[in-house]
Amino acid sequence: MSKQKISAIPSIRRLPSYLHIIRQYRDEGQEYISGTVIAQELRLEPIQVRKDLAITGIVGKPKKGYPVVALMAAIEHFLGWDEVQQAVLIGAGNLGTALAGYQEFQFHGLNICAAFDQNPAKIGTNIHGVPVFSLETLSHQVSVLGASIAVLTVPSPYAQEVTDQLVQSGITAIWNFTNVKLKVPDNVIVQREDLTSGYAMLCVMMNARKNDE
Ligand code: ATP
Repeated sequence: MSKQKISAIPSIRRLPSYLHIIRQYRDEGQEYISGTVIAQELRLEPIQVRKDLAITGIVGKPKKGYPVVALMAAIEHFLGWDEVQQAVLIGAGNLGTALAGYQEFQFHGLNICAAFDQNPAKIGTNIHGVPVFSLETLSHQVSVLGASIAVLTVPSPYAQEVTDQLVQSGITAIWNFTNVKLKVPDNVIVQREDLTSGYAMLCVMMNARKNDE
């Protein structure tokens, strides 16, 4: 990722919610959408929305706003969602199975094409149509499938050893759903999705509201 893109991380996190609103407008047959409308829908400041959209390179027209189709394409291109990425899923447990069945990913170009597990009872089965293989075949499958992404949903104590195998097999991007801070070489990107940190935010906000009452 370029330095410019990294400094835009808060904007990048908001872009999918913009895309969702813009898609609704497209489905309603609207040709243009203004930054103010997007801001109202998401309870943000219009200036913030315009700044965020500027990073995709698209320019709005005064009074009319942004052309809906071109705006969607610009956001999708900026996010890299206009290209299909093949991903493997490691750990076909409850969380892994839920992610394999999450239909929304396919609209963003993420294709989970194979799962891997160490449990012999799971190998040879499929989860939401995704075949489950033995980890022993990982390197071979990664190269055959052309996968660069791994979605990591094994129990945390196994996260690092599985990661070492992923790196050896040629995976260069790991979406880490464990709570382990993984050690990887410089050429490998890790995005950690600690579900408990989101829940921590929710609990603290609930407590703050209780104290205000
Ligand atoms: P289940 O009880 O059906 O296994 P779960 O979600 O409770 O589901 P977890 O203990 O969280 O299971 O493990 C997630 C998945 O990771 C399981 O399918 C498990 O077999 C698998 N797993 C555990 N260790 C490894 C490992 N070292 N390599 C690959 N997969 C593993």
